[in-house]
Amino acid sequence: MGVYQHNGHEQVVHTVQLLDEAYRRGDDQKRIGGTQVDTDSELIRQLVRCVGENSVLHRYEELVSYECDAYTLQKAIPRAVVFPKNTEEVARVVRLLNERKIPFIPRGSGTGLSGGATPTGGEVVISLVRMNQLLQVDLPNRRAVVQPGYINLHLTQAVADQGYYYAPDPSSQQACTIGGNVGENAGGAHCLKYGVTTNHVIGVKLVLPNGEIVELGGLTDTPGYDLVGLIIGSEGTLGIVTEITVRLMKQPESVRTVLALFDEAADASEAVSDIIAAGILPAALEMMDTLAIKAVEKGTFPVGYPEDIGAVLLVEVDGVEAGLDDQIKQIVDVCRKHRVREVRLADSEEERKRWWANRKTAFGAVGTLSPDYLVQDGVIPRSRLPEVLARVAEISRQQRVRIANVFHAGDGNLHPLIMFDSRVPGEEERAVLAGSAILKVCADAGGSITGEHGVGLEKRDEMYYLFTDEEIAVQMAVRDIFNPGGLCNPGKMFPSPARCAEVKRHIKQVSK
Ligand SMILES: Cc1cc2nc3c(=O)[nH]c(=O)nc-3n(C[C@H](O)[C@H](O)[C@H](O)COP(=O)(O)OP(=O)(O)OC[C@H]3O[C@@H](n4cnc5c(N)ncnc54)[C@H](O)[C@@H]3O)c2cc1C
Repeated sequence: MGVYQHNGHEQVVHTVQLLDEAYRRGDDQKRIGGTQVDTDSELIRQLVRCVGENSVLHRYEELVSYECDAYTLQKAIPRAVVFPKNTEEVARVVRLLNERKIPFIPRGSGTGLSGGATPTGGEVVISLVRMNQLLQVDLPNRRAVVQPGYINLHLTQAVADQGYYYAPDPSSQQACTIGGNVGENAGGAHCLKYGVTTNHVIGVKLVLPNGEIVELGGLTDTPGYDLVGLIIGSEGTLGIVTEITVRLMKQPESVRTVLALFDEAADASEAVSDIIAAGILPAALEMMDTLAIKAVEKGTFPVGYPEDIGAVLLVEVDGVEAGLDDQIKQIVDVCRKHRVREVRLADSEEERKRWWANRKTAFGAVGTLSPDYLVQDGVIPRSRLPEVLARVAEISRQQRVRIANVFHAGDGNLHPLIMFDSRVPGEEERAVLAGSAILKVCADAGGSITGEHGVGLEKRDEMYYLFTDEEIAVQMAVRDIFNPGGLCNPGKMFPSPARCAEVKRHIKQVSK
């Protein structure tokens, strides 16, 4: 779940004023709103020695941008931010922080929606954004090697002229880094057919939490444990990825894209299961409900949906030209069976691109409907879509918050966008409760509490919806082998044992 908020500004201005006063007093170490900020400490000098003068931030007004990622309900100022330029610099910083027992957090673009790159207080953020080079393109072997700060979309743009692309396509692909995608095992609209990040990463170079450098995977079939698989989705808790070898895909020969407009969301969701049940595997199968449609129509790329429409499916099939028309016909037949009101076939590449821009900017467009909203991320078996969407609507009524649904329907990966106004007392709390209750419904339906946004800080407690204490302990034991001192991205992914009783009370509350 991520959250967008509009009213943190006043607090920031106030804190910056406090800090300015502290600077004027010439203090070396300041405590601002409970956070200690180093302004000229030995640590900063040592960090500068590791990465250079212009690659360390330590003033409050610089650090404030790093107090959270796109999940803004929890924030803390880091101790410093460093920008290494290569693996050796990352390792140098990590070794220094180990000597001083200072925790640290790897960070890409900070678009994560679960607080994975958010400090909990006192960490040094290791930003990988200056490690943004495409190191190698090997088309005969369909591979590329990138640094972690390389932007997802740039890879497809770099190889498109030669007829290739990088398949995982999160809606944030213009901004997010491939290192961050590895951290979260990111997915995207076209992951239904082609798989998520873990299916496209062959090898990584990793700085371990003690500063050693290792290379994992890289061969077509690497014997031994699948350590690359373990690193992907580990949310920066097992080390810092500094090079990534990825698969490149050949562009499909042809693509067809249709929009199917339904009066009722229930009909659209039944059509989703029936399309897959008919043996068709679309490249993408996305759904938006009435509220989401209302938002995107007010956004930058309106498509011209009728105002009274209940849901839309955006379906894309790709592959060799022969057979695509048949697949489209089958899809349209299924939609007709489920009372589709209208079907549109994209008649140009411009039109198709506009439909995708409309869908991919949906999260941001919800800002036109509400000052604040939480982006939730749960998974369910797609055959349970109709009943789970009905439960989401019920939770919306119970908690008195509006919920728009925009999601990867083919994967059963829901993204309820829970709207609230943080200026209204109690609304934020009700939105958070609604989010947690939806995740419980997903878990109970045989799904998961995250499809692609990760656990981070936000969903640590909800891990209990899926795992027993013993299962969580096994995972933590694996983490501790890589990260025995707990310095690498502490406090993420796992519930704190001290909160166990409280969490279990909370589970009872949301289960009512
Ligand atoms: C509008 C919007 C739409 C989105 N749509 C999607 C979507 O369709 N699919 C999807 O999966 N996600 C989506 N996201 C979430 C987010 O973009 C992804 O999780 C993305 O992978 C995060 O990349 P980042 O570079 O911003 O990483 P960050 O947010 O900076 O970091 C994410 C995590 O990875 C870790 N990390 C970062 N770099 C490294 C590294 N080099 N080594 C080890 N760990 C590292 C961090 O510690 C953190 O735990 C969306 C977000 C927004 C704001």
